[in-house]
Amino acid sequence: MTNPLYDSLFGQHAGCDTVFIQMADGMRITHAEFLSLAAQYAYVFRDLGVKPGDRIAVQIAKSPQALAIYAACVQAGIIFLPLNTAYTADEVSYFVENSGARVLICDAKQKQALIPVAAAAGSILETLNADGSGSFAIRAETQSVSFPTVDRTLDDLAAFLYTSGTTGRSKGAMLTQGNLLSNAKVLTKEWRFTAEDVLLHALPIFHTHGLFVATNISLIAGSKMIFLPKFDLDVMIDMLPQSTTMMGVPTFYTRLLQDHRFSRDLTRDMRLFVSGSAPLLAETHVQFEKQTGHSILERYGMTETNMNTSNPYDGERRAGTVGFPLHGTEIKITDSATGAAVSPGSIGEIEVRGPNVFKGYWQMPEKTAEELREDGFFITGDLGQFDEDGYLHIVGRSKDLIISGGYNIYPKEIELLLDDVPGVLESAVIGVPHADFGEAVVGILVPDGDTLLDPDQIKSSIGNSLARFKHPQRLITMSELPRNTMGKVQKKALREEFKDLFQQQKLNS
Ligand code: ATP
Ligand code: MG
Repeated sequence: MTNPLYDSLFGQHAGCDTVFIQMADGMRITHAEFLSLAAQYAYVFRDLGVKPGDRIAVQIAKSPQALAIYAACVQAGIIFLPLNTAYTADEVSYFVENSGARVLICDAKQKQALIPVAAAAGSILETLNADGSGSFAIRAETQSVSFPTVDRTLDDLAAFLYTSGTTGRSKGAMLTQGNLLSNAKVLTKEWRFTAEDVLLHALPIFHTHGLFVATNISLIAGSKMIFLPKFDLDVMIDMLPQSTTMMGVPTFYTRLLQDHRFSRDLTRDMRLFVSGSAPLLAETHVQFEKQTGHSILERYGMTETNMNTSNPYDGERRAGTVGFPLHGTEIKITDSATGAAVSPGSIGEIEVRGPNVFKGYWQMPEKTAEELREDGFFITGDLGQFDEDGYLHIVGRSKDLIISGGYNIYPKEIELLLDDVPGVLESAVIGVPHADFGEAVVGILVPDGDTLLDPDQIKSSIGNSLARFKHPQRLITMSELPRNTMGKVQKKALREEFKDLFQQQKLNS
C-alpha cells in the first residue's frame, strides 16, 4: 500500500503532537489534529460518492480547514482543484465545467451565486466558512480519526491548478504526485528547511507558490507555519520576530520597506527570505539587503512546472536574476521561431524539462501539443538569457512582445530604464494599437511618493540608451499599476484601458 505524496507530506507525521499550524491569534494545530481533520473530510467525500480520480473544486478562504481538504484529497486519491477566492461566479463556472468537478466547496456568502453554476455542471455544492461553519463543517471529534490511504503512484494526478490567466484564458495544468513531490524535495534540501524552521505564510493557497512550494516544503521538513489568512502589514510585523523564513511576492517586500516600523531588529532571527511569482526589482533587492542585511533569494516558477530555478542558498544571490536551474531540471533557451537553441548568452524562449513538468492541459490536447514538446521540454512563454556566470535573467514574455513598425520590442528592456529614472517607483510598457505602426510603445509610470514626473524630460533621458524605434510614443502617469493577488502586473487591463489612445488622437487631429 503506497501513496508517495501522502506518505512524504502527511503520513510521516501520523500521531505527532508537534505544532504544524499557528494562527495569528496564537491558536495551534498539531500534525495529529490536522491529519484527523483531513481524515474526517476524506470520509465525507467518500459518503458523497467521490471516487479516486474525481475532481473537487475549492473556493474558500485560506484556513487550516482548506488545507485539510487538500490533505484529504491526496489521501483519498482525489484531484484537488483550488480556486482563486477573487473569482466571480462566472469565472468559477468556467473552472467547474471545464474540470467536471464532482463537488464545489465555497464560502456561504457565495452560495446563492454558485447554485446555478453547480447545477449546470452537475456538481454537488457545499459551503465551508473560515470559522469552520457551513454545510461541510466537521464536528469536533475527541478521538483521533484515521482513513485508509488510497494507493497511488507517482504518475497519478494529484491536482489541477489553473494558470493565472495573465496572457489569456486560464488553462488547467494537470499535476502528478511525482511533479509535486520531486519539486518539494529538491527545494527542501536546496533551501535547508528543517523541523526547527518557522515559516511566515501569508501567501494564498490557491496558487503554486503558497500551496506547492511553501506548504509542501514545510510538510516535508516538519516545519511549523504561521498561517496568516492574507498579507497584513500589522500582523506581519508582529510575527516576523517569531519566524525563521518567509516566502513572498515582490509586493510583500516593497510594502515592508515602506513601513516605518520595519527594521533590521525584526528580522534578526530570520534565516531566509524568498521571492517569486513576479519579477523582484533589483532596487528592492538592494534596498532590502541594506536595511536588514538579508539578501532576498529570488526564484522562478509557474503553474505548469512548479519551480524551475533558484538563486543559491550559499553564494551570491544575484539581484535581477532568478538564479540557476534546480537539481534535476534542465533549461534550454531557444529561438521562438525555429525552436533551435540560441547561441550562449542570447535572449530566447525559456524551455524546461524535468520531473517537475506537468502532464498537459486538461482537455486542451492542441494547446498541450503546442507547448509540451515530445522530447519533454515545456515551452514556458517566458523569454530569458543566461549571463556569463550561469544566472538566468527573465527578459519578458514572448506574448508580451510589442511589434511596432515591423520591429520586435521587449517591454522589459524599456521598463528597466524607466525604473532607473529618479522619481519613478515602477513602470509598465505596453503596445497600443496604432494606425501607422501597428502598435505604438506606451510607458505607464508610477511616481515615487509625490514626485511630479516630466514625461518629455524622461523621454529624452532614456533616449540615448534606446534605438529610435523603441522610444515610447507616450508616457502616462498612474498612481499604481493594476495587479492580481500574486502581484503580477495586469498588462491586459492596461492595454484595454489605453486601447483607444491613438485612435482618439487621430479623431481629434
Ligand atoms: P497564464 O499562463 O494563464 O498567462 P501566468 O503565466 O501568469 O498566467 P502563473 O503560472 O501563475 O500564471 O505564473 C507563472 C509566470 O510568472 C511565469 O511564466 C513568469 O512569467 C512569472 N514569474 C514567476 N516567477 C518569476 C520571477 N521570479 N521573475 C519574473 N517572472 C516570474
Ligand atoms: Mg503562464
